[in-house]
Parts: sequence; C-alpha cells; structure tokens
Amino acid sequence: MKIAADEAGFEAEFVQISEPSVKDALDSDKYDILMPFGSAIESTSGKKSVISENIFRTPFTLVTEGKRDIPPFSNLRVGMLHSQKGVADTIRSLYPGIVIITYDNVDGCVKALRNNEVDALLHNSFFWSYILQKPAYENLVVQPSSMFTMDFKAGTADTPDGRALIERLNKGIKQINETKRQAITLDYTSRRLYKYDVSDFFYSYWLIILLAVLLFIAVIIIAVQKTRGLLKENEEKIQKLIDEDPLTGVLSMDGFRKRAEELISENPNAPYFLSYNNIRDFKYINDKLGRVAGDDLLKFWAARSMEFIDDEEAIGRITADRFAVLRKIASDEEILADEKNVIIPVRNFFINQGKDINVQLCSGIYVLTPADFVDIDVDHMLDLARITEKKVRQNREQSYLFYNPDQWVKGKKATDIINNLPAAIKDQELQVYYQPQVNYNTGEITGAEALCRWNHGKLGHLRPSEFIPILENCGLIFDLDKYVWDRVCQDLKKWNERGHHQTVSVNVSRSDIREDRDIAKIFSSLIQKYNLSPDQLHIEITESAYVENSELLINTANSLREHGFKVEMDDFGSGYSSLHMLKEVPVDRIKLDLHFLKDSGDPEKSHIIISCVIKMINALGIDLITEGVETTQQARFLQSEGAVEMQGYYFYKPMPIEEFEKLI
Ligand code: C2E
Ligand code: CA
Ligand code: CA
Repeated sequence: MKIAADEAGFEAEFVQISEPSVKDALDSDKYDILMPFGSAIESTSGKKSVISENIFRTPFTLVTEGKRDIPPFSNLRVGMLHSQKGVADTIRSLYPGIVIITYDNVDGCVKALRNNEVDALLHNSFFWSYILQKPAYENLVVQPSSMFTMDFKAGTADTPDGRALIERLNKGIKQINETKRQAITLDYTSRRLYKYDVSDFFYSYWLIILLAVLLFIAVIIIAVQKTRGLLKENEEKIQKLIDEDPLTGVLSMDGFRKRAEELISENPNAPYFLSYNNIRDFKYINDKLGRVAGDDLLKFWAARSMEFIDDEEAIGRITADRFAVLRKIASDEEILADEKNVIIPVRNFFINQGKDINVQLCSGIYVLTPADFVDIDVDHMLDLARITEKKVRQNREQSYLFYNPDQWVKGKKATDIINNLPAAIKDQELQVYYQPQVNYNTGEITGAEALCRWNHGKLGHLRPSEFIPILENCGLIFDLDKYVWDRVCQDLKKWNERGHHQTVSVNVSRSDIREDRDIAKIFSSLIQKYNLSPDQLHIEITESAYVENSELLINTANSLREHGFKVEMDDFGSGYSSLHMLKEVPVDRIKLDLHFLKDSGDPEKSHIIISCVIKMINALGIDLITEGVETTQQARFLQSEGAVEMQGYYFYKPMPIEEFEKLI
C-alpha cells in the first residue's frame, strides 16, 4: 500500500481505525482511504463505497487445536484478531451464518480456542507460518483443506473526490508487478524467522530453568551457611584472642572477669577467694636477665598455677606481671599446699637455673562474702585484693595478706561445719539435748524441746546459732534435722517401752519446708517406724517462716495436723507477729518468746503487751507456752495472767538425755 501510494504521488500516513468496523469508519471523515476491502460495501449509515484494484491476494487458513474435523463455514465459530475486523466483515458477508468473535491478541484467540469458545482461528497463512513457530502454540494445527484466498483492496466513500482518489491510487497499484508483490509478501511473512520472547524461553526451558533456580538457591544456602560458620569460627577466634593471654595461655583480664562472674554465680556456696598477685621487682629481673627470661618466668608461674586449679577455679593475667586468681580454698592447709606447689617453685625459678635471683610473689586476698554472690562485682573484689597486695609489697614481711581476715576465719569455719556434717552425724558428734517444759501450777514436766548440740572434733562445742544458719544457707539443715527427728523418735520409743508416754517438741527449719518435700509424710513414717502415737510429737515452725511463704506453710501445717501432730508456732513475738497470720495459720499452740521484751526499756509496757497477747491467744482458743522464762517474777506474772505452761533457764536448761531421763 505504501509503495502504491508512493507511486501515485501520495504522501501516505497509516493509522489504525478507531471505529468498531470498517463500515463504521466509512462514515468518518478522519480517513481518506480505508483498508482492507474485499468488495465494495455500504457504510453503517448506508453510504456506498468505491474500491481500488486488488493490491494483493492472501491465502487464509483456519487453525485448530490438534487435528480435528471442522464444521462447514456456514456453521462455524471463528476467532479472529480485533485488528482484523475489516476482514471479519468481509467474511461475514461471504459466509452468512458464520460466527466471528474477535480478540485483542493472539494469546486471547488461542485461549478461546482451547476453552472451546470457538471452533477455529482464522488469519492469513503468512501470519500463521510466522506465529506458529512459537513453542507454546506447537499443538495448533493449520487446516489446509480450509484455505481460501482474499483480495486486499483499498476503499473510500463513493463521492467524486473519493473516486478521484481511488483512480489515482490505482495508477500506483499498477506499478507494482507480481515479482515485487511476492518479494514484499515474503519479506514480511515467511522469510521472517519467529523472534523468541522471554515467555517462549520459559516455556521451552522451564525444567532447566527450575533446576537452575533450585541449584542457585542451594548454592546460596550453602554459601550463607558456610559464611556463617566462618564468621562464627572467626568470632570464636577473636573471642579467644580477647579472652586469652597470648604469652602465658591463661585468661586475659576480660576473659578472667567473665569466667569469674560465671563461676561465682554457678557456685553460690563455694568458699571462693580472689587473689591479686604480683612479682616484686619484676622490672629488675627484666633488666638484669632480659625480657625473654622475664617472659619465661611468667610462663612458668602461669603453667604451675594452672596445674593446681580445677574446673571451678580461674586464673588470668591482668597486666605484665600481675595475675588474678579465683580459688575455692577454705583452710590454711590448702594455702600451705599452694605455697609448696606454686610459690616456692616460682621463688626458686632462677636459682634452679644457677642464677642468683630470688623471685618474690606478693598476694592480696579477698575472701568472698555471701553478699558477693548476690551482687557479683569482680572488678571491685579485685580492687580490694590489689589494695591488700600493695600492703604486702610495702611491708616486705609476709608474702600474702587477707583483705578481710574475719571473713576468712568465718569461711574456714563454715567450711569446717559443712564438710564435717556427715561425719558428725556418723560419729555422733551431734547430740540431742532436752529442755523440759513445766506446768507452773503443778510443777509437773509436761513436755520437752529437743535442741541440737554439736561437739565439733576441731572447733569444739558449737552453739546452734553458730552452725544452724550456715547449714540453712547451703541447704544441709534438712540432713541435720532428719537426724535429730529420728533420734527423738528413738528416745520416745525407748521411753514408751518403759511405760512413760512423753511428748517432745522438735524444730523444723524454714528451709526444710519445700514444695517438693512432704514433711507430714516424713514424720508419719517416723512414728510408724518407731511405733509412736502422733500426739507425742510437737512440730515447731518458726513464726517468720509463715510470713515468708504463707500458702506453703498453711498447707504444711494443715497436713501435719491431719496426720495427728500438734503444730506449734515458734518464737512468737520475736519476729513479725502479724495478727493477720494468727487468723490464717492453723496452729495448736503458740510459743511466746520472752526474749523480745528483755532489752526493751519500759517493763510496765512489756507487762501490758504480754498480758494482752495472752488474752488474745486465749480468746482465739489456741494453747500457749512461754519460753525464755528466767526469773521468779516472770513466772509469777505469767501465772497471774493464766499462762502456766513455761520453758526456760528458771526451770531447766537444755540437758543431755541421761539427765533428762533422771528427771522424768
Ligand atoms: P529455739 O527453737 O527458740 O530454741 C530455744 C532456744 O532458747 C534454745 O537455744 C535454748 O537453749 C534457749 N533457751 C531456753 N531457755 C532459755 C532462757 O531462759 N533464756 C535464754 N536466754 N535462752 C533460753 P539453742 O539451743 O541455742 O538453740 C537456738 C536455736 O537454734 C533454736 O531456737 C532453734 O531455732 C535452733 N535449733 C536448735 N536445735 C535445732 C534443731 O535440731 N533443728 C533446727 N532446725 N533448729 C534448731
Ligand atoms: Ca524451738
Ligand atoms: Ca523459740
């Protein structure tokens, strides 16, 4: 058309018609000439048209999905491109009865075919030979039997101007000979190789692409993991560099601080001390024997120390010739052993090499207190140890000093107590004393409290106040109490057999009572074992325990009472004495402690308080015994208030079983 127009001397501009059909376009004056026409047609409004000579002839074919029989044209549903609506008009006029549905693009056509909306698609053969190269259309089949040809002509409204235009165009059309026509046709259709687009590529190679993608993802995952591993390894290496002293292999300052914090929090009952150690005149050694010799000394010291520490101890090099050590030591013997194993070999390091230099170590020792295990501050403890080390360096008399020698003594004692408990139980260092309880009216001995005594092999006679808190702290009190309870039950059994039905009060520590421990069951198996009746045992639970965990305490007390034991609230008046508790807690007897009034100033006020407390307890219907009665006046006063059950030095001190047996 372009060639024809050129030949005819037109300057042609091609636009796509915007009207739904060529018929409609004929009524518009936007276009001089329209295409394609097969024959002259009427416009929508009924205008006649005039058409040109044939420009070229095109073979048209139907395409179906797979090979199949197609209905005759008069009964056929055909899909065509929207852009071919001119052709569609022509075909409709050629084959009345045919249904033509147009679609925006080839994909739309093919989809319609596949969904059976149409029986076949129609386009010219050149188009098919081009587009069917697309891989996704490989199952579309050209139906050669259906081929027909169509003329392509230009046309316009049948007016004098229109006719003149067509006449002039016809001259141009005549200039195009057959060879040229064929060349053009070939150039624009079958000579052109189908151009693959991205979707074709995916269609053809989806499996390979999928595999490639999976492979890629796998490679990425492996790479990420590998990188992470390397990073972690690197981090660990760096951490090790930070945590370790490269010269000696012991911990660095940072590493030591971290490890010490860990150990202290993991071992809250260990007898730890922290020492700060320094070589006296290290600079002199370096200057005289050289740096290498100095380094050798440090390495030797570190290696020697490492040999004698265990997994729950740590050693770190702070700077130059300063080392920090966290050790679990609780006796002078162990300190001496350290001296022999580490300090003396270090002292003789150069002498053993035939050099006349004596190495002196200075150590400051800080002994950890219970508070240090709660609020762990390694730097602070090291500071205190360092201050002490400085003193050692200055006074030149000792090689070590304690920052807090009292704590050292205390710690040693605690360790002696803790470590010796099993042996004490076995070797009967532990004894049960009995303190009689009397009825002041009758003078009769109505009961006794079992109190523990420890004649420690090394520490001598220990008061309960010296060892009970320590054992409570480290969770060993239960072992002691079980022993005491058992002994008491044995004694009760012995007395029962002699026909004497005695009752004894035993103490239950607050740390004996735990969610996971059934105290009532323990007592009831004891009385079964020794064939006792439950009323022979009074269980004393200290008042403050009720405040700490009232729910557990109430349950325990209830359970004990259900088993037939009498429950006593010990030390009433010495602690919190919550009135609320008196209401809530199930007890059979209250032990009023007189100690609490002893030091208080005004005896008149004391009398009023005691008198009122007694009235209150009576009114609540709870039994009462007063302990700590030391004088006649106290006893008489209590008697006048109606509180006649008493226990105290005024009557009897706690006594060994032999003495107690004589009494009863
Ligand atoms: P506690 O249960 O209040 O025992 C009474 C304490 O008061 C006993 O001290 C007793 O000797 C003392 N005492 C008795 N009468 C008088 C007196 O008139 N004046 C004075 N000042 N003191 C008097 P002890 O035997 O030293 O025991 C102290 C604490 O140790 C006991 O206080 C008890 O809480 C605990 N305890 C003793 N033995 C055991 C035991 O076997 N297990 C447990 N868990 N704790 C025990
Ligand atoms: Ca008691
Ligand atoms: Ca008491």
